[in-house]
Amino acid sequence: AQKTVLITGCSSGIGLALAIKMATDEQKRFKVYATMRNLAKKDNLVEAAGNTVGNTLEIKQLDVCSEESIKMCVSSIPNRKIDILVSNAGMGLIGPIECQTIEEMQNVMDTNFFGLVRLLKEILPDMKKRKSGHIIIISSVMGIQGILFNDVYAASKFAVEGFCESLAIQALKFKLNLTLIEPGPVLTEFEKKVFEDGMKMDLSATDEETADMFVNIYLKNYKQIFETLGQTADDIAEHTVKIILAENPPFRHQTNALYTPMTTLKYADPNGDLPIDTFYKMVFQHDKIFSASLNFIKLLRWKSKKSFDLGGTSSQ
Ligand code: NAD
Repeated sequence: AQKTVLITGCSSGIGLALAIKMATDEQKRFKVYATMRNLAKKDNLVEAAGNTVGNTLEIKQLDVCSEESIKMCVSSIPNRKIDILVSNAGMGLIGPIECQTIEEMQNVMDTNFFGLVRLLKEILPDMKKRKSGHIIIISSVMGIQGILFNDVYAASKFAVEGFCESLAIQALKFKLNLTLIEPGPVLTEFEKKVFEDGMKMDLSATDEETADMFVNIYLKNYKQIFETLGQTADDIAEHTVKIILAENPPFRHQTNALYTPMTTLKYADPNGDLPIDTFYKMVFQHDKIFSASLNFIKLLRWKSKKSFDLGGTSSQ
C-alpha cells in the first residue's frame, strides 16, 4: 500500500527536492504531504510537482513554530495516518554571539529544536499506537561537531541529536524507526541567506580581532567551502529516499563522504581536543594549506565524480 509522508519546509531546498522525488516515484509508493509555513511561497514546488499535485502530492500549511498549525495539518490527513515524517524545516545563524540578539538565537532554537519537539508531540502518539512509522530528521554534521561562528546553530542541532538519541530507545520498543540525516554543506537558499545575513551583520558590538576573523577568514572561505564540498538538495533527497526504503535504516546517516574525516576526529579522541585543535590549525595556522586542500578535493571530485555523487558513509 501507498505510504503517507509528511515533509516540513517544502518551499525550497532539501524539502522541495525530497517532496518532488517521492511524489514522482515511478512505482507510486508514496503519498506526499508537502508542507510549508507560508503557502504564498508554493510556486516553485507547484511548478516542479507538475501533475503530481492532487495525485501523489498535496500541499498543506504547517508552521513548525505553531502547535495549532501542526494540529490542523495533521488532523486534515485521513485517519491522521503518517507513515513517514521528515522533519526538515530549519534555519541558520552565523557570526559572533555578541552581535546576535537573544531573540534571534531563540528563534533558531524554536525552529530547529522545538519545531521537531512540537511535531513529535502531535505525531508520535499515533505512530506508537500503530506500532509503525519512520521519523527522519534532517540534522547536520554540525549536530556532531561545532564549527567556528556557528555556535547557536550547532547548539540547536546538538539539541536535536540529544533529543533523538534519547527518544530512539523508546521508539525501538514501539518498533518505530528514527534516523538522523547529517549533511555537510548543501547549496540551497539556506546557505545564500546565511551568507547574506553574515555580510550585512552589524559588527560594532564585537572587538576588531573577532570582526576581522569573521569577515576575513570565515566569510572569505565560506563560498569556497560550499563550492568544494557542497552537495545539491537532490543529492540529499536521494540519500533520504534510500534510507526510507532501507530494510534496517540506520540511526545516523552522513551524506557527504568528503566531510567524514572531520567528524571521525570526534570519535577518535575521548578528551575532545583533536577536532578542536584540527579546526584551529585549519583556520588560523594553515589558511593557505586549507585553500590548497580544498583545491585538491575539487580535483579529486572532478576526476571521480561518479563515486562521490553518492558517497554516503553508511553501509546503505
Ligand atoms: P532552505 O532554507 O532552502 O529550507 C529550509 C526551509 O525551512 C525553508 O523552506 C523555510 O521556509 C522552512 N522553514 C523555516 N522556518 C519554518 C517554520 N517555522 N515552519 C515551517 N517551515 C519553516 O534550506 P535547506 O538547506 O533545504 O534546509 C533544510 C534543512 O537542512 C534544515 O534543517 C537545515 O538546518 C538542514 N541542513 C542544511 C545544510 C545546508 O548547508 N544547506 C546543511 C546541513 C543541514
